[in-house]
Amino acid sequence: MNVAESQGLAGILEDAGWTKVQNKQDTDLLIFYTCCIRESAEDTVYGNIGAAKAIKKKNPNMIIALGGCMAQKKGTAEKIQRSYGHVDILFGTAHPYRLLDYIDEWQQKKTLYLATNGKRDMDITMPTLHDSKVFAKVNIMNGCDKFCTYCIVPFVRGREVSRNFDSIVEECKQLIQDGYKELTLIGQNVNSYKYNDKNFAQLLDTVSKLPGKFRVKFISPHPQDMSDEVVKLVANNQNVAKVVHLPLQSGSNRILKKMNRTYSRERFMDLVNNIRHNCPECSITTDIMVGFPTENENDFLDTLDIVNRAKFNSIFSFVYSIRSGTPAAKMEGQIDAATKKERIVQLIKLQSTIGQAHASNAVGKVYNALCVQYDNDKALCRTICDKLIILSKDSASIGEFVDIEVTANKNSNLIGKLYKRKII
Ligand code: SAH
Ligand code: SF4
Repeated sequence: MNVAESQGLAGILEDAGWTKVQNKQDTDLLIFYTCCIRESAEDTVYGNIGAAKAIKKKNPNMIIALGGCMAQKKGTAEKIQRSYGHVDILFGTAHPYRLLDYIDEWQQKKTLYLATNGKRDMDITMPTLHDSKVFAKVNIMNGCDKFCTYCIVPFVRGREVSRNFDSIVEECKQLIQDGYKELTLIGQNVNSYKYNDKNFAQLLDTVSKLPGKFRVKFISPHPQDMSDEVVKLVANNQNVAKVVHLPLQSGSNRILKKMNRTYSRERFMDLVNNIRHNCPECSITTDIMVGFPTENENDFLDTLDIVNRAKFNSIFSFVYSIRSGTPAAKMEGQIDAATKKERIVQLIKLQSTIGQAHASNAVGKVYNALCVQYDNDKALCRTICDKLIILSKDSASIGEFVDIEVTANKNSNLIGKLYKRKII
């Protein structure tokens, strides 16, 4: 979401005649577009803003803006005013498309301009500057109504707002016509998308049936709202990527309840089994957090147990981070840093064995894959079930779909060669 909105800001600026520079030192406008989901992300941004003070000293006309979730988090405006006087504009996630107005306002008044309130109008889109000619992210909804007890998103992005159905379909159609090959529908909870009488399954179905050779995926769905219809579309529709990112967070029912995750480990495993049953080649990935308040050894073993059963293709693993203002921040039984570290190391180790097994399984198989980028003398290609296969550079052009036979697995990196069908 953060990347997509940054691409939108870049698009607005480009349309208004601004150009990108390579070095921060040379810029007239420096924007930090932020995420504050974990404390470490916030700390990094404050470090970078602090470092920008020296640049501004040499180039006093440079405008510095802090945008995104962090800008509208409670306490940020005060902190910026107190300790980071060189910041000129603070703008939240509600109206990023008004960036040029914010710049004008600042230029007139030359004092900190605050635009951190308001509700997102999803009918206004930004002229996105995509950073690839192959992939494009399409924002379909913003905000969250779930209120997981550890999460700051509902407090910074506000309640769910879904974007106009036809406008999404139109944008996707245009992107496909412009040659994009992989579209990702994005939102905090994509599968709670609701616009008038249209739901997420209808949107995915409509986009996937647009004319052209492309694939569509989505991130992130919430397990609670994962319908059979969506699973069937993933399984049966050839333009829908065989990839489901299904965030688990914890394998312990006690912790899931304290997190307000609204599903049990049993329901989660039913979903995984249902996806695998309908679409055996589907890649299932997840988010897991360790060290949530009161998480004990048994809770953690429950998480490892689900990881063992679900055999995820990959895991994004996080150490629980206290976010002030969320209910979990005030819970008794916060876990010490050493225990959290020990648990995340164990989790990563287990997943690495599972990942190796998935990679070994792929050797000898043939996949249709999209060449997504070059890396030195290699061409990186992604299959429809999200496997990354390395080919020699001369085998495929960026944006081309090719058939590849996987010839080797080198530390979970799949190596392949072009597959030529025998013509009889
Ligand atoms: N809407 C998605 C997740 C979006 S946030 C969902 O419901 O799953 C992305 C990930 O950040 C979450 O899945 C969670 O694992 C992690 N996360 C959120 N808050 C966190 C916190 N306070 N500490 C550590 N990880 C956190
Ligand atoms: Fe955060 Fe939960 Fe909403 Fe995901 S569903 S964004 S984790 S509150």
